[in-house]
Amino acid sequence: MLENCLFCKIIRGEVASHKIYEDSKVFAFNDINPQAPIHIMVIPKKHISGLNVVLEEDEKILGYIQVVISKIAKRFPEMKNGFRVINNCGVEGGQTVFHIHYHLLGGRIFNWPPG
Ligand code: 5GP
Ligand code: ZN
Repeated sequence: MLENCLFCKIIRGEVASHKIYEDSKVFAFNDINPQAPIHIMVIPKKHISGLNVVLEEDEKILGYIQVVISKIAKRFPEMKNGFRVINNCGVEGGQTVFHIHYHLLGGRIFNWPPG
């Protein structure tokens, strides 16, 4: 946990969010600026700044987070035919909050390649 990290503050409840899922390792909440009918941020409770700095020891949590994403997606009929998961990494990857997070997007058709 980092004192001044926005997403650590959301996990601690110091910044309000609409919680979608929580367990001892993972937290998920609605994105404040949704890019699709469903736009959920899925984050580990461990503060990791980005996918570019993960350690061998993060293997379990990063694998587990995909299990959680799959579980959350199953709860939404809008995602029964598919969804998109995105990690923006670093400034050139479009990352703006430096606590690793996965965007879970659903409820519309997504294009490829992304912008
Ligand atoms: P990034 O651009 O780093 O991949 O994604 C950061 C995401 O966090 C953005 O989609 C942005 O809308 C979302 N976000 C930024 N600040 C807040 C906030 O205070 N609350 C919530 N719920 N989402 C936020
Ligand atoms: Zn953090």
